Amino acid sequence: MKTWTAQGAMALVLTFGLLNALQAKEGMWIPTLLKVVEGDMQAMGLKLTAEDIYSINHSSLKDAVVHFNGGCTAEMVSSEGLLLTNHHCGYGQIQQHSTVDNDLLTDGFWAMTRAEELANPGLTCTFIDRIEDVTLKLSRACVGLSGEAREQRMKEEMASIVKQATEGKGLEGQVVAFDFGNSHYLITSRVYRDVRLVGAPPSAVGKFGGDTDNWVWPRHTGDFSVFRIYADADNNPADYSADNQPYAPAHHFPVNVDGVKDGDFTMVFGFPGRTEQYLTSDAVDHVINRLNPMRISMRDEGLAVINAARASSDELRIAYAAKQSSVANAWKKWMGQNRGLTELRALDKKRDMERRLKDATGSTVVEDIAALNAQYFPYLEARSLFIELAYYGPDILNYAHSFAGLIEGAVEREKRDQLLAKLRANEAGFRKDFNAQVDEQLLGRLVDEYLKWVPTELEPGGLRAEVLRAGGGTAWAAKVFSKSVFDDADEMDKLMASGSAKAWGKLAKDPAYVWIEKLRSSYFEQVAPEYGRLREEIELASGAYTKELRKAFPKKVFPVDANSTLRLTYGKVEGSAPYDGMQYNPLSTARGILQKYVPGDPDFDMPERLVELLEARNYGDYANDDGELVVCFTGSNHTTGGNSGSPALDANGHLVGINFDRSWESTMSDILFDGSRCRNIMVDIRYVLWVMDVYAGAGHLVEEMTLVSKTDAEVEE
Ligand code: ASP
Repeated sequence: MKTWTAQGAMALVLTFGLLNALQAKEGMWIPTLLKVVEGDMQAMGLKLTAEDIYSINHSSLKDAVVHFNGGCTAEMVSSEGLLLTNHHCGYGQIQQHSTVDNDLLTDGFWAMTRAEELANPGLTCTFIDRIEDVTLKLSRACVGLSGEAREQRMKEEMASIVKQATEGKGLEGQVVAFDFGNSHYLITSRVYRDVRLVGAPPSAVGKFGGDTDNWVWPRHTGDFSVFRIYADADNNPADYSADNQPYAPAHHFPVNVDGVKDGDFTMVFGFPGRTEQYLTSDAVDHVINRLNPMRISMRDEGLAVINAARASSDELRIAYAAKQSSVANAWKKWMGQNRGLTELRALDKKRDMERRLKDATGSTVVEDIAALNAQYFPYLEARSLFIELAYYGPDILNYAHSFAGLIEGAVEREKRDQLLAKLRANEAGFRKDFNAQVDEQLLGRLVDEYLKWVPTELEPGGLRAEVLRAGGGTAWAAKVFSKSVFDDADEMDKLMASGSAKAWGKLAKDPAYVWIEKLRSSYFEQVAPEYGRLREEIELASGAYTKELRKAFPKKVFPVDANSTLRLTYGKVEGSAPYDGMQYNPLSTARGILQKYVPGDPDFDMPERLVELLEARNYGDYANDDGELVVCFTGSNHTTGGNSGSPALDANGHLVGINFDRSWESTMSDILFDGSRCRNIMVDIRYVLWVMDVYAGAGHLVEEMTLVSKTDAEVEE
C-alpha cells in the first residue's frame, strides 16, 4: 500500500503552475491538469484549449486515443473504427497470421474488403472514459487511522470508488497511484475485444533498418500497422462476432496532409509506460554498473542463438520474429542508456542535487533510500535474472509450467477440463513458433549466464551443482531436452488426449517441469516477498523525496513519472546536435531510404516495387513543398516505451505522424531527461498514406480518413 497526502496533489498542481516560465519540453502531463500548461502550449503554437484536448462534457481529442493491448498506443482515424498504431505494436498479430506460404511479415497485408480483415483473439483496445483525482476522498476516508487499519480502509475506499463509478455502466475502473502514492486518480475505461488486422506494410518498410537503425536517427522506417475495432449493435464492446459493426468513436483524428516543418508545434498523446526520474545516485550507479550489464549479457546470449536460427531458414525467421524483436529492443536501449547516463554525468548531477537538498533542508531521505537500496539490489537482480530466464529465454519452461494445474491436481475437475481444453486450443500456436533445437540452445546458454550473475544467497537450490555435474549449461540443457517430452508434439498430443492422472504423473517428473517449478518456487518464496516489501518501502521514501525536492526547489519542475496512464507531452519539430561538430536535421526523406538500400541485407533490403517507385520519385500526392517525400521526423516531445504508436498531433489536433522511437542519444531519458538532446521519432503521416495508397494500392483506407490541408482551411475561412 502506498502513502499519499492531499498536499502531494497540491504540490503537483503548484509545480505545474510554475511551468509557464520554465522549460516546456520535459514532462508527461496528466490530461486533467492541462489547464496549467495551456498558456505555455498556446505560446508555442497550440490553437486549441485544454478542454478541446480532454473533456468530460463533450467529445475531445482523448476519445481518439487508444491503449493498444495494454502496452502500446493507437489512434482512431475514421468514423468506422479504423486505427493506426506501430508495425512493432502489431508485430505479434502480423506474425501470428504469417506462414512460410503466406508470409505477411515479408509481403505485408492489405484487406481490400472488410470481409478480408483478420480477427485477433485476445487483442484489446481501451478508451479512457474519465480521469478523476480522488486523493482527497481517500485521505478523508482514512482520517485518524494508521498502519494496517489505514491500509485496509484505503483498499475498501478504492474498491467502493471504482464500484460507484463503473457498476452497470459497461466500464472498467481502477484507482492508480501517481508520484509514488502522493496522489491517486480514478480512471474509468471501455475495453473493446474485437480488433481486426486491416493492413501492414512489408517488414522492409515497417521494420526498415532492423536492429541496426533501432533507437537511431536519421531513420527511414514506416513503423505503422492498421487495425479496425468492432462493436455490438449499440457500439459497445463485444467478443468477436461476424455480426459486429465497425466501432463509431466519439472522435477520430483528421489527418493533416500538408505535413510538418522545423519548429512546428507538436504534441504526443498516449500511454507512456514507465520512467524512473527519481532514482537516487546509488540506484543510477547500480543501473549503470550492475543491472544493465547483467541484462545486456543475458540478452547477448539469447540473441546470438535467435539471430543465427533466423538466418538459417525462412521457417525459423518467421517463428522467432516477435521474440527477436522483443529481446533486441530493450537490449539495445540499455546499451544506449548506459552510454547516455555516462556522457551526461548522471551520477554527478544526481549527487549534486542530493547534496543541495541536504544543504537546503537537512533531510536524510536520500540516505534512507540508499540504506533500503543496499538491501534491495540483490533482490532486484535476482528478479531481473528470473524474468530474463523464464520469460525472455527458452519457451519450454513456461510451456511446461502451463500444465501445473493438471500436474499438481490442485484445481477441481471442471476447471481441469477447462484448462486442458485451453491447453489443447493453444497447442498449435505454441508449436508454430517453437523449435526444440533453438530452445535447447537458449536454455543452455542462458542458464550459464544466469549462474554467472545471480546473487549466490538467492539462487535456486541445486541448479548450480546439477549444471556443474553435467559439464556446463549446454550439456545440462541437452540432458533436460533428451529426457523431456514437452518438446515432442506427438507425445504431448497423446498425453493430452488421454487426459489421465498417469499422463500428469509422467509430466510431474519431466526435467523441464521440475526445473521451472524449482525456479518459480525459489523466486516466489525467496525473492518476491522481500522484493515486494522493500519496493514498497522505497516507494514510500521516494514519495517523501519528491515532496522534499518540490519544497526545497519551488522554481524547478519535477514531473510525475510515467505509469502507463494517459499523458500528453508537447514540444516542437526539432533536430538536435548531441555531439560537437554535428547536427541532426529533424526530417528524413525517401532519398535516405535509397541511400540505405543494400540488396540481400536483412535490415536494408527492399521489395523491387518499392525501389522502383522511389527511384522514379513517384510520390503521388504526398510530397512536401520541396518535392520530397518526408519519411520520419524528430521532435522535442518527452516520450517513453508505451508511447509507441501514439498520435503526433499539430497545433490544431490533426494527425501529422505516429510516434515510434527515440534517438540513440535519448535512450537515458527514462532516468535523466535532457531537453537539448532528447528527441522522439515519428513516422510522417504522409509516408504512411503513400505506402497505403501508392505502394500497396489500398487507397480505400486513405479515402476512409478525414484529410485536411491548408487549402481546405482557406476555403472554410
Ligand atoms: N521504440 C520504443 C519502444 O519500443 C518507443 C520509445 O521507447 O520511445 O519502447
